[in-house]
Amino acid sequence: MPRWSCAMGHQAEADSEEGLVSKVPEHMRQEYGTEISRERILRKLREGE
Ligand SMILES: [Zn+2]
Repeated sequence: MPRWSCAMGHQAEADSEEGLVSKVPEHMRQEYGTEISRERILRKLREGE
């Protein structure tokens, strides 16, 4: 299951990368008032950085 964590260590999970790509920007907006691009999310997922 793809998993993503933000700079503060909150984790998000979804059934697919597409699911995360729609979930993560919401988190970033609500928590931090910032935007994150789809490319950046995908890059992070693939690099596991
Ligand atoms: Zn967070």
